[in-house]
Amino acid sequence: MILGPTAGASLLSLASIRAAWAQASSANAPTNLFDIQPVAEDAYFAFARPQAVANCNATIFVNWADVLVVDAHSKPSAASALIAQIRKQITPKPVRYLVDTHFHWDHAQGNAGYREAFGQDLKIISSAATRKLEATLLAPRLQASLDPHGLPFSSQPHIPVLLDDARKQLSAAHSAQQRAALAERVRQLESFAREMRNFHPELPTVTFDKSYVIRDRAHDLHIEFHGRAHTAGDVVVYCPQKHVVATGDMVIGTLPFLGDSYPKEWPITIDSVAKLDFNRVCGGHGNVGHGKQRMMDQRNYIEELAERVENGKTAGLSLADIQKSIPVSSIKAFSDDDYGRLVSSGRDLSSMQQAVDTNIEHIYTRLGQN
Ligand SMILES: [Zn+2]
Ligand SMILES: [Zn+2]
Repeated sequence: MILGPTAGASLLSLASIRAAWAQASSANAPTNLFDIQPVAEDAYFAFARPQAVANCNATIFVNWADVLVVDAHSKPSAASALIAQIRKQITPKPVRYLVDTHFHWDHAQGNAGYREAFGQDLKIISSAATRKLEATLLAPRLQASLDPHGLPFSSQPHIPVLLDDARKQLSAAHSAQQRAALAERVRQLESFAREMRNFHPELPTVTFDKSYVIRDRAHDLHIEFHGRAHTAGDVVVYCPQKHVVATGDMVIGTLPFLGDSYPKEWPITIDSVAKLDFNRVCGGHGNVGHGKQRMMDQRNYIEELAERVENGKTAGLSLADIQKSIPVSSIKAFSDDDYGRLVSSGRDLSSMQQAVDTNIEHIYTRLGQN
């Protein structure tokens, strides 16, 4: 007699088969996508190495019997890769909680990788607003980014165009080193497109409005919504005993992205987060922040830019005129040496101005959004 899964196998054994399979597949997952470093006892920062299609950083809290991970990257296989690294470099304990700090593709498209590895025991946690945004925006935005004729949202890579470009550069490459780098870029773009072709979002299973607290024997973890900022639903994960806060893209180690933001509310939200007691800030991009200075510098940058764009708009200036009226050299927030150096690192003046112009454009369109 042959038993089909519905006839013979219990849910438990199905779950264990699935877990064993996931363990086997994660054993083969690449272990070079992230650089993991401790930030406090039982708290780790996973820095996402640059890839053709970006992944976000993750923050990892090791609880008494399980693990909480903050943010899930741009694809399930990147999540599997981090799971393999966690097992190898940190702990064999299972991931029981995954937090989506916000709905963006590079933080939530990897959710399914955690579900696959940990089955129904895994809770995926977000604000109610984030779950709603994931349900409505993740799939269509991804589709536009994979469609050769699509018009992707400004934070998303347009994969067919990038692929075309990389293939052209590859055929014109002069050195073996250039060829190898471009061939790797083509490989990464193709593999992303292949993996994500049939993507269905794996949505959060636990949502809340203001706060969700996990009281563990190792420490407490507070998942908190302090107000709208980078998106309508950003949450931070705060561990009071370890003095660590994971901020998603609300506070990052590069220039902020404002395309889905609430520019006038964002600084107020940061002020509220800054009242917590922490000394390590683990953001969704860039490296770890020490203390609160960088967070306040970013807050001041957003406040300054939002005010100047709003004044220009009120005076009836066009977007182009407002952009012209705000050269990089006039931005006070950049005169703090550390912040100026941080956000301009790897950029020359013209690409820096371009990046600020994009911030200005986003503020211009987002001001007054409900
Ligand atoms: Zn984001
Ligand atoms: Zn991001």
